[in-house]
Amino acid sequence: MNEGTVAIKRQACPDCQGTGELHIESENITEDFEVEKQTVIAQCPRCQGLGFLLSGNGGANG
Ligand SMILES: [Zn+2]
Repeated sequence: MNEGTVAIKRQACPDCQGTGELHIESENITEDFEVEKQTVIAQCPRCQGLGFLLSGNGGANG
């Protein structure tokens, strides 16, 4: 058996550092006028949550 070292060229997404998700800090005001900080995790729109950018498919985008 041959262990194939498949080198797939994929570039880690610079926007999410390859995590595929973005942490957005958000502030929420409660009824008591207290500021609650919370972190919203959103899917990275650049890599569609994959964490890496697909290369070699097209180029110019819209
Ligand atoms: Zn990303």
